Amino acid sequence: MTTTVSAYAATSATEPLAKTTIERRDPGPHDVAFDIHFAGICHSDIHTVKGEWGQIDYPLAPGHEIAGIVTAVGAEVTAFKVGDRVGVGCFVDSCRECSSCLAGEENYCKRGMVGTYGAVDRDGTQTQGGYSGAIVVDENYVLRIPDSIPLDAAAPLLCAGITTYSPLRHWSAGPDTRVAVIGLGGLGHMAVKLAHAMGANVTVLSQSLKKMEDGLRLGANEYYATSDPETFKKLAGSFDLILNTVSANLDMGDYLGLLDVDGTLVELGAPERPMSVPVMPLLGMRRNLSGSLIGGIAETQEMLDFCGEHDVRPEIEVIQPDYINEAYERVLASDVRYRFVIDTASLR
Ligand code: NAP
Ligand code: ZN
Ligand code: ZN
Repeated sequence: MTTTVSAYAATSATEPLAKTTIERRDPGPHDVAFDIHFAGICHSDIHTVKGEWGQIDYPLAPGHEIAGIVTAVGAEVTAFKVGDRVGVGCFVDSCRECSSCLAGEENYCKRGMVGTYGAVDRDGTQTQGGYSGAIVVDENYVLRIPDSIPLDAAAPLLCAGITTYSPLRHWSAGPDTRVAVIGLGGLGHMAVKLAHAMGANVTVLSQSLKKMEDGLRLGANEYYATSDPETFKKLAGSFDLILNTVSANLDMGDYLGLLDVDGTLVELGAPERPMSVPVMPLLGMRRNLSGSLIGGIAETQEMLDFCGEHDVRPEIEVIQPDYINEAYERVLASDVRYRFVIDTASLR
């Protein structure tokens, strides 16, 4: 049996998203059903629905920054109850058996995690995301939202928050670390806030100085425009860790040159086309180039609790579902301050 819920979905790579309905399974013994109250708009939603990461099956409701309140739990569920404040991020299942899953890094499941939208669910249907009124998810993939974090602010933490928290932790950002963040969008502004909360020295590298006041208010110590060639001369060899959150191709050589000896540039942005990497800047200072994909369930819970304790909240613009297409255009124009969050009340 299924339940029909309202949603906003893409019907092709080029058409605007439109209101429709999708089906949710009835909760099984290990499932948590919840009303979605807010869903963030991640740039990955846009890459996906436009087919930039490969062909997808339409209609598809995106959304993997989901926050809401539990309405029903399966008979075997003990960790959650009706009324709990919960969230779901980028995946809703994984194999649970591989070394990554056993290590709590379900995001690196060797058989492939089950994405929150556009993936094949265990019942063979296509998963549908958070731009909708309700969702049913296995309890092992549901997060608990600390009481101190409002649900609208919690939503972006489920992707933008964990995607930036995880590499900051993995590369041990702290008081002695010089961190640069490329791109001050949804991920970038969370990276600045989280790195600052961890005590790191933070520099924003944005296309222009337009958002400088914001960047410094969010916790950056310094702010530079990458459109100014002087930036790359002045900051050469200055950083231990660089998080690249840009959704488009960059000249990697320029940015690798900003790392100190043994420094690491972590690619978080996922542009459609490959980027070329000159090797000389890597060789010269034994620099590292890596990537990082969201984070596991345990680390996501740790991040939510960290944000609850350290008062870290995203800067959001709450919108109604009928504004989603305009919001997409504004994200593409780097005109987002700093995450659009859909109030899904009208879809419930
Ligand atoms: P976003 O809000 O659009 O932020 C991206 C920022 O990059 C923009 O605000 C802009 O910042 C900068 N930018 C955009 N186009 C640029 C260009 N042509 N040249 C230089 N800078 C440019 O996007 P987001 O939601 O943060 O996502 C960023 C990327 O990360 C996307 O590719 C997304 O798919 C990916 N992502 C990856 C993961 C992961 O697990 N690795 C998770 C979530 C998202 P300024 O205006 O400050 O320059
Ligand atoms: Zn995302
Ligand atoms: Zn696995």
